[in-house]
Amino acid sequence: MDVQFKLGRSGFRCESCNLTFNDNIKYIDHTHSPSHVQKTGALPVKKASLEEVKERIEYLAEVKGLK
Ligand SMILES: [Zn+2]
Repeated sequence: MDVQFKLGRSGFRCESCNLTFNDNIKYIDHTHSPSHVQKTGALPVKKASLEEVKERIEYLAEVKGLK
């Protein structure tokens, strides 16, 4: 589910909501707002913790038979 974000002359634009923001802070706030999430069906990307990354690597190693 790709959302097109374009940097226009007037600032940061959310094509999905047809809104323009003058600064990136407001824009980022918007991308985390319930109305935007509802519209795009996209949840803000969660930063993976170090533990999660390690688990993932372990999992992939197992799947690939490297263990
Ligand atoms: Zn939006």
